[in-house]
Amino acid sequence: MSSTQGQGGSRGCAVRRALGWTHPTFVFLLVIAAGCQVPRAPQPAEVPQATSAPWGDNGHRCGRAIHPQRAIVEIEHVQQAIDFERALSLHYEQPAGLGEPWFAVTSGRSSVLVAAGHAAATTREGKLKPADSGTGSLADALHRMADVTVVASTALSPSDSNYYDDNHFKRELARLLATGRYALVLDLHASHAYRPYDIDLGTMGGESLLGRPRIAADLLDCFAAEGLTAFSENYFAAARAATVTKYVAAHGVPGVQIEINDTCLILAKNGQAIEGRELQMHRFSQVLQGLLRFIRAWDERQAAETQSSSPP
Ligand SMILES: [Zn+2]
Repeated sequence: MSSTQGQGGSRGCAVRRALGWTHPTFVFLLVIAAGCQVPRAPQPAEVPQATSAPWGDNGHRCGRAIHPQRAIVEIEHVQQAIDFERALSLHYEQPAGLGEPWFAVTSGRSSVLVAAGHAAATTREGKLKPADSGTGSLADALHRMADVTVVASTALSPSDSNYYDDNHFKRELARLLATGRYALVLDLHASHAYRPYDIDLGTMGGESLLGRPRIAADLLDCFAAEGLTAFSENYFAAARAATVTKYVAAHGVPGVQIEINDTCLILAKNGQAIEGRELQMHRFSQVLQGLLRFIRAWDERQAAETQSSSPP
């Protein structure tokens, strides 16, 4: 008998010996009822640690199947994001000056491009649509910590980039994608706090992943590893209007619309962060860390693939 078996295992196996003459199925059921151990799934300590493939044996580097990883996000990172959002909130609903752009591109070396076209308010069907408060500072933190390129609104958009294609934002996206430097677009949005999910991934029912369903699965694994638990897929599928996700997929690059619950974002108004929400800041750092781990693992895998496909 294995030393890993407990008392229940000993009792059960005695029952099994005593009933050895009975029909095997009946014995099996009795053995279970008596608490005899049955073959079990490998436990974390028994799973060999992935050393070769950047994506790891369990398909990603975010899961808890092996052991937890050291935290990346520091208190200062969250403080920086609060300061960023406070400053941006002064311009949420202000039009850009004459001839000035209403969005900014911040270049990075990652093959992931992050869009935040609702970081400030926007105009849809002639009406002002309020900012997705908190998405601008999240995109900025991803640029600083994962070196992604960010395209984000910085003032009131005259044309909603997630609803119309005929605007400067989309033309700039097309120009960036045409460089061939980007392999994935993550489009950040905010969802009302009353919605039941922490994160909803919009992939046009999987279509915008262009045959790579693992992208969505790995994203959710990365969020789960940080303690987020409520997920949804395609509540906002990004399929109906002229969304960023639909646009980038049509340009041959996989895209995901990431809807993040307001309770995970740094909300600000008129230059002031909404204070007294320590748990909210904690949830922000969890979302940020999940995205950081996903992007870093993605870039490692892209680099490994490029290396293996280049001639010796
Ligand atoms: Zn939005």
